[in-house]
Amino acid sequence: MLQHFGFWIFSFVVFRETLSQYSRQRMSEDFIRLGDMLYTEEAYDDLRQPSFRSFRKQIFSFWPKDDDGLVIVPYLIDSSVGSTKKEDIRKAMTQWTEKTCIKFVDNREAKEKHYLVFQSREKGCFSFVGRSKLAKGQPVNVGKDRECNLNVIAHEIGHALGLAHEHTRHDRDEHVVVFLDNISVDERDFRKDKDVFSSYGVPYNYKSVMHYHKTIFAKNRTIATILPKMVEFEHTLRSNNPVDHYDALLINLAYKCKDTWANRCRKILECQNYGFFGAECKCVCPLGTSGLRCEKRSVKRLPHYESPRCGGLINGTTMISDADIFSRGRISESALPAVKECIWLVKHRSDRRLQIVFEDFELSEDPECRREFLEIRVNSLYRPDKRACGRQLHGARLQPKGDIVIYYRVYILEKIPDLKIFIRYF
Ligand SMILES: [Zn+2]
Repeated sequence: MLQHFGFWIFSFVVFRETLSQYSRQRMSEDFIRLGDMLYTEEAYDDLRQPSFRSFRKQIFSFWPKDDDGLVIVPYLIDSSVGSTKKEDIRKAMTQWTEKTCIKFVDNREAKEKHYLVFQSREKGCFSFVGRSKLAKGQPVNVGKDRECNLNVIAHEIGHALGLAHEHTRHDRDEHVVVFLDNISVDERDFRKDKDVFSSYGVPYNYKSVMHYHKTIFAKNRTIATILPKMVEFEHTLRSNNPVDHYDALLINLAYKCKDTWANRCRKILECQNYGFFGAECKCVCPLGTSGLRCEKRSVKRLPHYESPRCGGLINGTTMISDADIFSRGRISESALPAVKECIWLVKHRSDRRLQIVFEDFELSEDPECRREFLEIRVNSLYRPDKRACGRQLHGARLQPKGDIVIYYRVYILEKIPDLKIFIRYF
């Protein structure tokens, strides 16, 4: 068990290390890095101008299309990259190419002036945004050793294709809450875009490969730096999401992939519900939609609001029990240790009084409640008022005057918790 815990801590430290490299620093004479995004000196100077006058012109440029309408992104893989990582780079490229008109071509054959160079020369994961003006190849650094896994590489390729971070979209404040007071790096990493990177009408995507996870750059890593406004979807802001339908949709729109396929297909379809016209002359539909034009919807919410695997909205008398969190029959030794989280948003109702009774409460015992805890958020839906473990809440009663969040998290499952929380409206 401890070994596993050690492993987890180690992975986390490595990942943190990677991310702490994100802070603003001068890379060399030529580049300046802000977050995991690289800028030329010229572009960075522009970035500092309040008007962003020539920001777009300087740093963002599209990759050109060939005669067949495919967007050609030439690349080289530097000798510093190990074999496992080479494999991950190819898989990460495929995440983008299978649903877009992007085509990566080996620059040993293409011999283009502008190309990507995947390298492991420096620590950390970073890339330019869009095609840069560098004639000798623009680096996509995929880190050393265990840094920059497959989906992080897909994220860096997203930058190289021209995508900015999802949580810096101009409309992000409608979708997420950012806690600047808990950020350990330059606030610019969280600054909203003006009209520089358009979102092309694609809905805000909590599951985007370009979205940071909820505790990114946190001074206090036990609380969030960024959370969804719809708090019950907190679990979707995790690191390591792969390229999602809506990420592909954004590339399809930005690079006008539909025009590419239209030239090859006998018939073009107008796809609905954020579907897009794909290489096979059919609409590619997001999960939860179907039909020739993705016109049928089987989900109430768009699928990027992925329902919690446990938890959800409560507005009537309910018993939360350990069985809701873990199905006893399915837990096996090999499933340990586990990381699992559940989020319940308990709504206050004006026509009823709300009472929460912790009838049974026995989680793992540890002084700082790190391994397993239950968090109650009463004063804010986004910040914990209290974290409890062991038997700390056994028999406790609450009578909240507003909505509250109950959040359960386990890093290491030593035993099935003994939990019975009675939520009563009367
Ligand atoms: Zn990034």
